[in-house]
Amino acid sequence: MSEVKALEQLLETGSLDNEVAKVRGIAQLAVDKGFDHLSEPQKKVLRPHLTKSCEGVTDPGGYHNDCQVALEGNELAAALESQAYYGSLLCEKCIDESEQYAREWERIDRE
Ligand SMILES: [Zn+2]
Repeated sequence: MSEVKALEQLLETGSLDNEVAKVRGIAQLAVDKGFDHLSEPQKKVLRPHLTKSCEGVTDPGGYHNDCQVALEGNELAAALESQAYYGSLLCEKCIDESEQYAREWERIDRE
């Protein structure tokens, strides 16, 4: 279940730490029992947390790409997983871009 994967990452990365205990409790329940086990009102509580927008990346020229891709399910899980490394929540495309800029910065640093 892609929702469960995303929720697992949300719990693991502390992304729900600022939420009320109820939200974390339901998220944990979904992880333990499966998302479909939740009641409709419980799903409703989690839904806003299951979609997050990509934060986008800034190129070496200081231009922000303004990416607003909605991250959900497995993609959200993957983004959360690499959030600590990249410093922001990024879609696959922005991660590629970010890697490319990192290489460019390295080259600039060497010159
Ligand atoms: Zn993006």
